[in-house]
Amino acid sequence: MDLGIYPPHINALRSIQLKKFRYTTKWLNDHTLFYKTKFRKADVDPTDIKSLDDIKKLPFTTKDELNALPNSEICWHPELTLRKHTSSGTTGMPTASCFIDVDLQVMGTLGARSLKLCGCEEGMTLQVNYGYGFFTGGLIFDEAARRLGMKILPQGAAPIDKSIAAMQRFQPKVWCCTPTYAKRVCYYIGDNGVDVSWRIGSHGAEVWTNETRKLIEEGLGPDYKAYDVFGLCEKGGPFVGHECIAQDGSHIWTDVFYMEILDENGEDVSEGEIGELVLSHIYAGGYSTIRYRTGDKVKLVAENDCVCFASGYPRIQILGRKVKDEFKVGGTFLIRSDLENVAVNTTRKLHELFGADVGEFRVELSSLEGTTDVRYCVELADPENAEQKSVVKSVVRDISRHMINRSFPVKTMEIGTYEQSLGKTKLIIDKRNEGPQ
Ligand SMILES: [Zn+2]
Repeated sequence: MDLGIYPPHINALRSIQLKKFRYTTKWLNDHTLFYKTKFRKADVDPTDIKSLDDIKKLPFTTKDELNALPNSEICWHPELTLRKHTSSGTTGMPTASCFIDVDLQVMGTLGARSLKLCGCEEGMTLQVNYGYGFFTGGLIFDEAARRLGMKILPQGAAPIDKSIAAMQRFQPKVWCCTPTYAKRVCYYIGDNGVDVSWRIGSHGAEVWTNETRKLIEEGLGPDYKAYDVFGLCEKGGPFVGHECIAQDGSHIWTDVFYMEILDENGEDVSEGEIGELVLSHIYAGGYSTIRYRTGDKVKLVAENDCVCFASGYPRIQILGRKVKDEFKVGGTFLIRSDLENVAVNTTRKLHELFGADVGEFRVELSSLEGTTDVRYCVELADPENAEQKSVVKSVVRDISRHMINRSFPVKTMEIGTYEQSLGKTKLIIDKRNEGPQ
């Protein structure tokens, strides 16, 4: 596949997209029973696509449909399959994907492009603290760095002290890991006074916010810049898009993935508006899908010029992993990312104030008479210490009121109640399917 480190000029993009979209749709119709059946049911023929607007005639593909397929049937080229990956299963059963050579080439090149977009260059060293395994993070970052000519420290999701030791020994300039992992490293550095060699960070696989960015950049020193990387296993892994030095939303590589952001009526949203991200592969890979409803709630930040070489490529901000992550609490709606922001800020503040006397902070959701009950849970070294308990509770309530204009009951428990995670941390514990508590 003809794909360069630099994306095609924005003026050529629409005609490239149309050509590739027509090719991919026809290929899927001719080679896969899944799409042949789907297009027939929707009474649409891929040759009907004469313009990009005609794409709206095609049916959506959903995660549930893919999960319902037998494991063998998601591979469009079983004989060419090189690797299988799964999503992390953030919202249920992990979705399987199947990679052939072209998928690895595409992701490697988009990865190299993405790393270059945030200032990485040939010869720099990248420390990889994403997991290597079913999760695409580790292996695909490895591929990306190799394509850009970088040196790789393939450490995986190691314990924090081991990652610091590797950083001190090999002095990498670039770092990649989840934002949660980066925050834990910041706490460790704050407690132990360590100088870091990292200057550029590519952080993703979780929804995170500018608050978290601030925390990471402050924690790692004035020369460190943290960038968002956006991807999903179903679309080949981490490099569907990446932030540039402007740090204002991830540019989406729409020469490879045709992007739609749709409101609840299926209409395109305008700049500044929020909708569901729908992505189509526009090449025929091992598991290419058309109009795939990611379930991610995103905001279209801008489609205008930018300071970087991806100028004109749309930028988005991820607000919530799943559209359905909006829930009714009492009489009003809350979205998951708001509660995650409260959790991030509360953890930071409690850590500043109480150090090791405070452990993990989680938001627990449970069902209550058709609505959602929210509870803030804080681990304390001594949960019986009434004075400390009361101060902690008032800090939590203040932050919550400040950030989302409301607060919820605070429960304290012993340190060790919640598992410490080195990868993706579930800040919100959802018990709503377990019935009323
Ligand atoms: Zn840019």
